[in-house]
Amino acid sequence: MREGRIAAIGPTAAGKARAGFCAIDARGCAVLPGLMQSHVHLCQTLMRGMAEDLPLMSWLRDRIWPLEAAHDEASLRASAELGVSEMLLSGTTTILDMGTTRGHDVVFEVCERMGIRVVGGKTMMDAGAGLPRNLRESTAQSLRESDRLCARWHGAAGGRIRYAYAPRFVLSCSERLMRETAERCRTDGVLLHTHAAEHPDEHAAVREALGRDDVDVLASWGVAGPGVVLAHGVQLTGAQIRRIAAAGTRVVHCPSANLKLGSGIAALRGLLDAGVQVGLGCDGAPCNNTLDVWTELRHAALLARLRSGPSSMPAEAVLGMCTLQGARVLGLEGEIGSIEVGKRADLIVVSLRGVHMAPVQDAVSALVMSGRAQDVRHVIVDGRHVVRDGQLEGMDVEQVRRRAERQARRLLARAGLA
Ligand SMILES: [Zn+2]
Repeated sequence: MREGRIAAIGPTAAGKARAGFCAIDARGCAVLPGLMQSHVHLCQTLMRGMAEDLPLMSWLRDRIWPLEAAHDEASLRASAELGVSEMLLSGTTTILDMGTTRGHDVVFEVCERMGIRVVGGKTMMDAGAGLPRNLRESTAQSLRESDRLCARWHGAAGGRIRYAYAPRFVLSCSERLMRETAERCRTDGVLLHTHAAEHPDEHAAVREALGRDDVDVLASWGVAGPGVVLAHGVQLTGAQIRRIAAAGTRVVHCPSANLKLGSGIAALRGLLDAGVQVGLGCDGAPCNNTLDVWTELRHAALLARLRSGPSSMPAEAVLGMCTLQGARVLGLEGEIGSIEVGKRADLIVVSLRGVHMAPVQDAVSALVMSGRAQDVRHVIVDGRHVVRDGQLEGMDVEQVRRRAERQARRLLARAGLA
């Protein structure tokens, strides 16, 4: 690796290394492209365990929105630090993140400092029932603040930070907000990230409010195409999947979150067969309750087998959702997602010597079906070593944890939920 990019690969690469290069002993390990999660909420990491045993709408209205509304700068920073620590330590190098409505600069500051690659943005909400007052924005405020963040952060940290406009979902956004956001994203070549077709109750509420399904409404408002990333897609019909594929809209599969909130099992095989680019994500900590990409890989593999048969989703295809296909979801396949000369040096070194993997027959299958966060030895993003020998570089993880515990107690109290 040189200047943040992969300079050479293979047995002759060592000969090309000049004096001063650093060597990593990767014997007994697999070297993979850094893993990608294309749907997470760093602002919610502090809320892990604070919204248990609820279906989506009540999970949102009774717990998550009041908690997001209670965030201050210190709690938001602690939440982002905790989430980035957990993800870097487990080998996630790139995320597509959706924030809360206010104070999102702090999340980017944490990502800039800790070295993770992030595409993300503040969430946008200008409509809908049950929204706490200080989460609700006017349409103009929401667009103005998103534009400001985009101008400040898109392309920051040498391109490691990119902006994504993030209207939350169709029930919390006006038609004007969605249309104007879609227009900006198309013009500026910036991603639009939203939730769609997640839970049966939400699906029914959308039909009641708008007379059609959210994906159809969104498409009629211009929210469709290769620059649009929809999280979940559990409730999609076959016809909707075909239309999404034809438009080139991306979908993110969040198997653990869909299980926890009882949302259902997305038609992963159907989406892939239709030609949809599908990514994988843990979603937020309170609907999972882990941000460990290995759990997500395993759940994706197992649920596909339950829904479509034991041969429907080989390990390579599952891993692809967090590597090259994951990069396509974000429009970054020219930069990341595979180990190729000239691409960004985002690499992870994962041990294959754990007793829970032995005896290793096929490395990819061992990683997808038996891999754990604790197997990750080294994490490199843009050529920078951010996890060395299983430890975060330049960050005391015990301090991060203690700060999170303290800020979580204060957050609960401010939200009136303690
Ligand atoms: Zn989400």
